[in-house]
Amino acid sequence: MYRSHNCGELNASHINKEVTLAGWVQKSRDKGFIVWVDLRDRYGITQLVFDEERTSKDMMEQAQNLGREFVIQVKGTVIERASKNPNIPTGDIEILVSELNILNEAKLPPFTIEDKTDGGEDLRMKYRYLDIRRNPVKNNLIFRHKVTQEVRNYLSQEGFIEVETPYLIKSTPEGARDFVVPSRMNEGQFYALPQSPQTFKQLLMVGGMDKYFQIVKCFRDEDLRADRQPEFTQIDCEMAFIEQEDILNAFEGLTRHLLKEVKGIEIDKFPRIQYDDAMRLYGNDKPDIRFGMEFGELNDVAQHKDFGVFNSAELVVGIAVPGGNSYTRKEIDKLIDWVKRPQVGALGMVYCRCNEDGTFKSSVDKFYDQDDLAKWAEVTGAKAGDLICVLSGDKNKVRAQLSALRMELAERLGLRNPDEFAPLWVMDFPLLEWDEDTERYHAMHHPFTSPKPGQLELLKTDPGAVKANAYDLVLNGNEIGGGSIRIHDKETQSLMFDYLGFTPEEAKAQFGFLMDAFQYGAPPHGGLAFGLDRLVSILGGQETIRDFIAFPKNNAGRDVMIDAPAPIDDTQLSELNLKLNINQ
Ligand code: ASP
Repeated sequence: MYRSHNCGELNASHINKEVTLAGWVQKSRDKGFIVWVDLRDRYGITQLVFDEERTSKDMMEQAQNLGREFVIQVKGTVIERASKNPNIPTGDIEILVSELNILNEAKLPPFTIEDKTDGGEDLRMKYRYLDIRRNPVKNNLIFRHKVTQEVRNYLSQEGFIEVETPYLIKSTPEGARDFVVPSRMNEGQFYALPQSPQTFKQLLMVGGMDKYFQIVKCFRDEDLRADRQPEFTQIDCEMAFIEQEDILNAFEGLTRHLLKEVKGIEIDKFPRIQYDDAMRLYGNDKPDIRFGMEFGELNDVAQHKDFGVFNSAELVVGIAVPGGNSYTRKEIDKLIDWVKRPQVGALGMVYCRCNEDGTFKSSVDKFYDQDDLAKWAEVTGAKAGDLICVLSGDKNKVRAQLSALRMELAERLGLRNPDEFAPLWVMDFPLLEWDEDTERYHAMHHPFTSPKPGQLELLKTDPGAVKANAYDLVLNGNEIGGGSIRIHDKETQSLMFDYLGFTPEEAKAQFGFLMDAFQYGAPPHGGLAFGLDRLVSILGGQETIRDFIAFPKNNAGRDVMIDAPAPIDDTQLSELNLKLNINQ
């Protein structure tokens, strides 16, 4: 038996007990006549004591030579500590060691294995197994486990079946590039790794599985924007014989359960907002509603007043910054510089101070009198003491810019409290989205999403206006889940492929299997998928998903610990009938 107890469980009730512990040496303090060693495992830290009077000379010497991260096993007696440590559960006791076994020596770790380490991110990623010994990482992995357990408990109890779907498949259109895997046995042919199990879960519905879920890896070969991972985990779900309302209820239930079980927070009904309203009020399809600062559209009150910039703009829109009138001129100038940064891209910003005495002072006083500015305040909901920030220009661009400003100001004002949780559903997304690069419409969610009833015809005349039975679940300004009611008949599905610019041959080659399946009695179905990594990090009150993934990749998509991706040797290449064609 390696251990009778773990390093986190002994306390005063165990005094005089003989115990065996095993773990890593966190640190030791050598006073010459007495040596204390902190022994660490996953469960905590227990103090060991060796002293001249009670410990043999040999063992004393061994104890003095223990290095950090040595793996040891000790036998000894639990005794009361002279000076107690109220900060840890084992702080009342220590182990008077009678037997010391060095199980493995350790090189000096490249960074300190402490909560606050001296190791930078790159180093910690290279030695991730050492990083995982640290509480912050370890606790995040345990937290992730708790979340996934609760997901499994809840969905199983609701009658969902977890089914695994294959990884070596064919392209799934989730809008990213595929990772491909060459097939040795099928010369010149490739598998694609799933961007999601979308088509398989739909086939499971045709197969009668009715309520499916899977905690599953998905793979998308995208340029890695901050905090994206090329392989990530979804809680993927699908249901048959349901309406949109059933899906929303089922997964609102799951989210409510998670918030309650892992955060102790009870939230009643989740609010819902139309996609169009989210864009109008927050400039964003994943609004953070932990705070207000809703947009006020000012076209009616700010145009036709000799101010050319506003007159020529498609949209003039503002927000009220609570207490913003206290900003100095310099601070406002800095804010203007902030919106003009290329990442935000505004050309400028107009502002209006709402003075405590009810008067207004704007940066465009030449064009607007007090009555005009009072209207701005009314539309943006600004009160005395606030600052109104106004941007203008192309509707979509200006909304994105003001949304960025809204989030930035909320951050600065401390309104994005990680302990507060504000979920909401964003409903009725457009079916299609215009892609500037290819000058074509693309499915906004994916091509299996059904249009709203009666809107199929509109595809011919005004494709951009067609709304979909598609919904996102948003939490604190992040999309944590998204899904749709699917098309479940062959005709509509072929029509959709047609509108999306697939030739019938292309559609058949890529998705013939799905359309075939639709001919054999496909039930009405729909579903959604949660991004597990993001969900866990938000519930954990932290920003980066990497911190909740045991072995993440860096921003260049590399695993720096195992050094992947890496070249393969010529034999492997020739087995796969591949030749590299790389320009050096
Ligand atoms: N497959 C979709 C996604 O990965 C989710 C869904 O529609 O269920 O976003």
